[in-house]
Amino acid sequence: MSVRTILVLFFAATTLAVAGWTATRERPFEPRYAGSPPNVLFVSVDTLRADHMGIYGYGRNTSPAIDAWAKDGVVFDNAQASASWTLPGLATVLTSYYSSTHRCWTFNSRLDPSFPTLPEMLRDAGYDTMAVTSHVFLARRYGLQQGFVHFDDEFAHPIEDPTEVVTSEMVSDKGIRFLEQKAATDDETPWLAWLHYFDPHGAYVVHEGISEEFGVTSERDRYAGEIRYTDLHIGRVLDKLAELGLDENTLVVFFSDHGEEFQDHGGARHGHALYRELVRVPMIIKAPGVAGRRVPELVRTVDILPTVLDFVPPLIPPEGIEGRSLFPIFEGRAPEQLPALAEIRLEERTSFDCVIDGRWKLIVNAMSGEVELYDVEADALEKNDVSEQHPEVVAELKQTMVRLIRRAQERGEGFNKASDLGLSQTQLEQMEGLGYLGGD
Ligand SMILES: [Zn+2]
Repeated sequence: MSVRTILVLFFAATTLAVAGWTATRERPFEPRYAGSPPNVLFVSVDTLRADHMGIYGYGRNTSPAIDAWAKDGVVFDNAQASASWTLPGLATVLTSYYSSTHRCWTFNSRLDPSFPTLPEMLRDAGYDTMAVTSHVFLARRYGLQQGFVHFDDEFAHPIEDPTEVVTSEMVSDKGIRFLEQKAATDDETPWLAWLHYFDPHGAYVVHEGISEEFGVTSERDRYAGEIRYTDLHIGRVLDKLAELGLDENTLVVFFSDHGEEFQDHGGARHGHALYRELVRVPMIIKAPGVAGRRVPELVRTVDILPTVLDFVPPLIPPEGIEGRSLFPIFEGRAPEQLPALAEIRLEERTSFDCVIDGRWKLIVNAMSGEVELYDVEADALEKNDVSEQHPEVVAELKQTMVRLIRRAQERGEGFNKASDLGLSQTQLEQMEGLGYLGGD
């Protein structure tokens, strides 16, 4: 009996027994990957706004390697993050819950172990799981390491350090080493690997021989150079995956946790607002045997978890999560249309909720109650607040927002709330030095 056969049997035998899971819900479709659990490679880039990549229409050549790779991928043109900074955004990806549920709100938050995470689900089903991280919020104290058998946070540099750290090359080197080890072994245990890249995050470092093409005087220029530098090293991993033949059985999920502002709405950096430049993120999924296509419909990073699970039969997304599987898209069907929620609660002046539903986007200042409404079909850049012209739309979206937040809060009651990390005021101020709270 081959290892793979044993593994598939193991899957069938154990899945029903995993706490908090249900395997009783009828699948709406037959999974393409029945009997052959794929490897899963997560490639995420911190602070990468979608519209600064070639594949999303940027006029500069910032992402040639990812663009070329993405030609055979499913490219989501309208993917929304759940927050505009790292900790809540990534907690959402790993749990498929919004911030009102997982409560990773502030620099002092951490994810409680009572939340089931995607790596835990895969690990419990027999996967080997590894991560190489490169952001302070991916240091172990924030709780996002749950479920990783191997969790390398060497580059999740301590908050005492400045941000002028360049890590993409080293993250890729570690990722490539992992792929080579997997390719060299007879062990057919499937794996999840997550490589998180940090370089486009401020400060915007100049990379000799790369940044000059984009200019080095303005922040936006240097940001472009950082993307190009990161793309170069991600390209090495994607090339290695293909060279080793692992791409034939690996689901690759590329995404960012949030975007970045360059005075688009009078602010800078991220974590201070919920406009498009901050919450519209790149999201590209490449599945073996699935043809490339563009998906214009609204999707969310909260959908990543159930989508991945639908590629890993017989695992089934747990009841109660916020995300819905995007698997039907991979079979050429249109996704179910659902609104997207984003929230931030960093401090009083940065407390916002936002809901996007069809052509409308509503942003509510959670402290003052002030609202902004954008017609994102006519005004993609969200420049014209039309809340006064459309009070009925504001009222309707507010209802949707209240419903989503209330549901998320109720779901949160089923989990423990992690206690605060107890960072000192000085440490919290150093977090601000990372470029958060950079509005106005
Ligand atoms: Zn981030």
